[in-house]
Amino acid sequence: MKLLHAAPATLPEELYERVVELAKEMYESVVGDTLSAAEAEERVAELSREVGQEVLSTGLSERYGKQTGRWRSCDCGGRQRFEGYRERWVMSVVGPVRYRRAYYRCGECGASYYAGEAELGLEGSFSLPAQEAVSLVCCELPFERGCELLARLSGLEVSMSHARRLSEAHGGLVEEALKQEREALFGGELEYLADERPERLYVTLDGTQAPFVDDWHEAKVGSVYDVEADDAGSDRPRKTSYVSGAREGVEAFGQRLYQEVARRGVKQAGQQIAIGDGAPWIWNLVEEHFPEALQILDLYHAAQRLYEVGRAVHGDGTKRAREWAEANRQRLWVGQVAGVLRSLKGLRPQTEEGSEAVRLAIGYFTTNRQRMDYPSYRARGYHIGSGVVEAACKTVVAVRCKRSGMRWTKARAQAILALRCLLLNGRWDEYWQPLKSAA
Ligand SMILES: [Zn+2]
Repeated sequence: MKLLHAAPATLPEELYERVVELAKEMYESVVGDTLSAAEAEERVAELSREVGQEVLSTGLSERYGKQTGRWRSCDCGGRQRFEGYRERWVMSVVGPVRYRRAYYRCGECGASYYAGEAELGLEGSFSLPAQEAVSLVCCELPFERGCELLARLSGLEVSMSHARRLSEAHGGLVEEALKQEREALFGGELEYLADERPERLYVTLDGTQAPFVDDWHEAKVGSVYDVEADDAGSDRPRKTSYVSGAREGVEAFGQRLYQEVARRGVKQAGQQIAIGDGAPWIWNLVEEHFPEALQILDLYHAAQRLYEVGRAVHGDGTKRAREWAEANRQRLWVGQVAGVLRSLKGLRPQTEEGSEAVRLAIGYFTTNRQRMDYPSYRARGYHIGSGVVEAACKTVVAVRCKRSGMRWTKARAQAILALRCLLLNGRWDEYWQPLKSAA
């Protein structure tokens, strides 16, 4: 609870003395000649955290360590009696802080009440800003590295297991809130109002393998962006946002992606374009959720397919393999899918592996034929892939979840992915600010 019309606080004598003492020490370290300027700066940073700890300790004790009456009412209907004061350690962004709180206990149900406990939003012994800092660093870095970085850059000391628990708890809450919104969206009780009308909205879909406790499984990734339709013909992606589902089925992932695209104003969009590799789930999902979207097969993936065939038929690293693939890549570029298919059918693979690669590729280029009209897409200024899709997988999943020694459970991976998307999508404060101002 915030105090309104409170009188200006005067610094308690003891705190005043301590702060002045620390400020003196800082100043001496700078003007003295025992430390280099760089060392003095580091000492100042260290001491200013100490000032912060002193201020928080005394201030929080002042705020919560006061008896507000002998009794307070209990949820059970009974009364809680003031039992005295209890001390507590809290890890804050300036380091560990000790403060005093009033303690009440109910004689009927035995419930305990510590003043300030709920207001501080503590998770374990971590203050909300500390929880935020841990979550921020740990959604970018492996837990161990994150803890190391926090200790070096701030006064915040956290063990790897605490860091993991904290970030996964918040990631889980973010995920849960999204899920509730999604249910409301699909239940027709919620409609997103986009801030602006996107001219041309792109949706890209892909999957990438990640290490889970039992084996490698897929994490699906979708990205959404629009392009500036300016006179200069700029077509750079603008405001890319992401969703990701760890070991998620197509149906659930489809709803997750639709939610993000709805948020980005799909209903108001001038035009929708979906880019994906040839995986059948992708196009089924697009048909279901984005029936109006123009479907484009990512040129990058299509070309990769050609190189695979070249290798399988003509041998890995051979000149013939490369030449065959490049000639056909050129055919794709100018829209001769029929020529690619003829060239595939003209191959005479000598191995079973080669025959299988050719057979699959014929199926792939036949099924996706309508999605490869590259000359016309280029003429209209559409994106035709070239790694946009791949980049989403790296940005969201690979850099955080596919590092050596990692083994995820579905829930843990999802929690971290939820935090990553929150950050990447520019919505970090939307989650944290209300928590911090609720106190
Ligand atoms: Zn009670």
